[in-house]
Amino acid sequence: MTELAPAPAEPRAETKRISHWIGGRVVAGESGRSGPVYNPATGEQTGAVDFATVEEVDACVRAARAAFPAWRATSLAKRAELMFRIRELVHERREEVARILTAEHGKVLSDAMGEVTRGLEVIEFACGIPHLLKGGMSEQASTGVDVYSIRQPLGVVAGITPFNFPAMVPMWMWAPALACGNTFVLKPSEKDPSASIWVAELLKEAGVPDGVFNVVHGDRVAVDAILEHPDIAAVSFVGSTPIARYIYETGTKNGKRVQALGGAKNHMIVLPDADIEMAADAAVSAAYGSAGERCMAISQVVAVGDAGDALVTAIKERLPRIKVGNGLEPDVEMGPLVTLEHRDKVTGYIDGAREQGATVVADGRETAPEGAGFFLGVSLLDDVTPEMDAYRDEIFGPVLGVTRVATYADAVKLVNENPYGNGTAIFTRDGGVARQFQFEVEAGMVGINVPIPVPVAYYSFGGWKASLFGDTHIYGPEGINFYTRGKVVTSRWPDPATSKVDLGFPQTR
Ligand code: NAD
Repeated sequence: MTELAPAPAEPRAETKRISHWIGGRVVAGESGRSGPVYNPATGEQTGAVDFATVEEVDACVRAARAAFPAWRATSLAKRAELMFRIRELVHERREEVARILTAEHGKVLSDAMGEVTRGLEVIEFACGIPHLLKGGMSEQASTGVDVYSIRQPLGVVAGITPFNFPAMVPMWMWAPALACGNTFVLKPSEKDPSASIWVAELLKEAGVPDGVFNVVHGDRVAVDAILEHPDIAAVSFVGSTPIARYIYETGTKNGKRVQALGGAKNHMIVLPDADIEMAADAAVSAAYGSAGERCMAISQVVAVGDAGDALVTAIKERLPRIKVGNGLEPDVEMGPLVTLEHRDKVTGYIDGAREQGATVVADGRETAPEGAGFFLGVSLLDDVTPEMDAYRDEIFGPVLGVTRVATYADAVKLVNENPYGNGTAIFTRDGGVARQFQFEVEAGMVGINVPIPVPVAYYSFGGWKASLFGDTHIYGPEGINFYTRGKVVTSRWPDPATSKVDLGFPQTR
């Protein structure tokens, strides 16, 4: 068995410092606390990110608050024009930010480009903000009375984001929030914070006024300061379930509107009539893409009836073709895990599954590249049962489990009994069964012969059960609702018959 990488190397001399972005400029943190940022492909520490104090978070919120009145008053036409300009800049420079993602997260460059493209779709949706904020109107609701609805921004809103999509997930939040007229405070993941500063500089270049978009880095101190700040009206969170629950409970207790998206354990059901080659291709890309560090990754295949043997064989055949290495190399398909600790946690699930009775078809340690990078090859576990840790926990790594069941009903029961309900998929040629699945499965996003059913930007993204706290999904129409509040105006004007102006003919209602 290949020895896995030792502890990360010492920081290099040219380690860069990543600081906050407040009121349109970089502001160095003064807490004296910081976190290391690594290049996961080499194991080297490449940066140190400042961790904010409560006072620094407050400075950030004050900048956002000061910018709000003018931003809110900026016309829809102007805000839409800015969104179009941002879209053009991100599109032109997408490879630049993709390289930052690969350098700090580890995902391969093509995957990083894909991340930016999915984020761009949300920016493109936000370009339609004049249309999206249109209200309704009822003329003559009562005699001489009209009623109409408008949607207005909330004020200062905050986003707290995970490491696994350091560009896209913040875009899910700031693009609609800004387009709606809010000002924004982003607290990105401390593991890969540079993309957020790249975005801040780009928004400034596009013409977004200072203070409209701010970044504060940090850990729990910064998060708590956001949750407790009286001038923050709403918090969007994406991350693991325990933290999502904490954010939701604390934020709502402090009177904020909160949407908190949590972790996942996504099942892919394969029926005996499915196209097994298609299902195997789908399982491999959905389980191992981005080293399994996706909240929509397929981590558990449920093989029904006699689908299991053919499917495991087909998946196993594909594994040696997945080249693992530095994501900047062109033919590499899977990069390292984000940190050494996370890589070691993931390998623990392989040992645990073996001890608890699963069949280890492939152990990623045997195929991990040499060197100090946080690498793990692809792993496949067969005969996984619901009692095993590898089944119960979100592994968030390149480990795919296969559970075998007798019937479709057994498979659906597994999905519905799982505490998470983010995404799920079914592979079958039977339209009636697929329709039944869509009807009865308890998950927020469902794929039919599609393993990762992330909704396009004009729908909204969100799971059920422990995968989402709050009642609004993110981006799309629900994102617009989340970042605005409704107002209904009931109006009556004096009867024109009483007008002092000679109208030339009698007016009546
Ligand atoms: P995480 O929960 O550890 O961190 C998310 C954010 O919370 C980060 O900004 C982090 O700094 C902050 N945080 C971490 N610990 C905290 C604490 N104790 N108190 C306050 N704040 C804290 O998540 P992660 O490891 O960065 O990301 C991976 C997780 O995110 C996975 O569980 C994945 O499923 C989930 N995720 C979910 C979705 C979704 O849409 N549902 C999307 C992407 C990722």
